[in-house]
Amino acid sequence: MTKKPAPAPIDGREYVEYSTNNSGGSWWLTDAEWEALETAGWVVDWVIAEPDDYDRERDGYQLFGTPDENGVPRWMGARAKRAKLYGTTSISAAISSFEFNTSQDSTDLGCYSCCGAPHSFTARTADGKYIDSYSPEPGAPARYGE
Ligand SMILES: [Zn+2]
Repeated sequence: MTKKPAPAPIDGREYVEYSTNNSGGSWWLTDAEWEALETAGWVVDWVIAEPDDYDRERDGYQLFGTPDENGVPRWMGARAKRAKLYGTTSISAAISSFEFNTSQDSTDLGCYSCCGAPHSFTARTADGKYIDSYSPEPGAPARYGE
């Protein structure tokens, strides 16, 4: 997997970032689940917020987005790949919020051996420094902190 630079803080607060991949060949969160996270206070990093973003480079990546059959902007089918919960560095709290607001299970391994786990959580300081992270691994204690 490509190592991404730490995202820039948007409001000067520490945060836990959730990120997802298409482990198993399809995206794990539905649009409604991303929207539920946003409603619950997560700042969802919509892959392509505006059609003008289709050809824009961001975070060193060319977006290459395309609208779906309903005109909704997507990147490889996804509307979002990550979201941040600001004001906390508690991965436990972030996972609780994530699982409460979606139908997802943070311990799901997906097709771990080829794609990696679908869900991961990383706590960072306000200036983006790494604190802690969680992503399930086969054979390891399943839940964060256990
Ligand atoms: Zn896979």
